[in-house]
Order: sequence, then C-alpha cells, then structure tokens
Amino acid sequence: LESCLFCQIIDRQVRGKIVYEDDRVVAFEDVNPQAPVHVLVVPRKHLSSLKEARAEDAALLGHLLLVAAQLAREHKLDASGYRTVINTGADGGQTVFHLHVHVVGGRIFHWPPG
Ligand code: 5GP
Ligand code: ZN
Repeated sequence: LESCLFCQIIDRQVRGKIVYEDDRVVAFEDVNPQAPVHVLVVPRKHLSSLKEARAEDAALLGHLLLVAAQLAREHKLDASGYRTVINTGADGGQTVFHLHVHVVGGRIFHWPPG
C-alpha cells in the first residue's frame, strides 16, 4: 500500500535499517527501541493486523515466527531469553497497521505487560 509506512520501508521508499530479508519477510530495527535488541519482522504481503490473517496465511505466519527466532539467535538471545510480541488493534496498542512481530531482548521483561 502506498500509504503504509512498513510497505514503504519494504519498498525502500522510506529508510529503514534492514537486518534480514527473503522472498516473504523483511526485518528491520525499530526506530524507537524499547530494549537493547528491538527488531520488527514484517511480511511483504500487506496484512493490516493479525485479525486480517486467514488460513491461506498459515505458512507465512509460521515463517514470521521462525525468522523472529532466528534473529533472536543471531543476537545471542537464546541463553537469556527474549520476547516476541504482536500488538493488535486499539486495546492491543497497535500503532502501525501492517502486521509485524516485535523481537525484543537484552533486558528483563515483566508479566503481565503494561
Ligand atoms: P506497534 O505499536 O504497531 O505494535 O509497533 C509499531 C512500531 O513501529 C513501534 O515500536 C515504533 O517504534 C515503530 N516505528 C514507527 N515508525 C517507524 C519508522 O518509521 N521506522 C521504524 N524502523 N520503526 C518505526
Ligand atoms: Zn503495508
């Protein structure tokens, strides 16, 4: 979508620090990091949020999580642990309406979240 920030980052219309990409997903550093490691894993396919996902997206959703885990591993987070987050809609705190998985690590996170 021309009006979508993350589509624009994927298409290099907007600068992003891309750390990984393949035929289905792009990952880049969050511009306002909430932890020492804060990467966003984004499908090239524009889905506004998780609630737009359908059965046909099952493999893509699986791939998003596997890439998230691989990026965490590359950032040496396996031993300490890390958090993966998908915010959905207003109550979920979503602010960018292109589906993305946050990978955050390098500090301790609490539960329940705020
Ligand atoms: P959400 O709140 O939708 O789950 O997460 C959106 C994330 O996108 C936020 O963590 C925010 O810091 C990040 N973000 C917003 N604008 C930009 C941008 O222009 N570039 C990058 N790299 N991240 C952004
Ligand atoms: Zn988009």
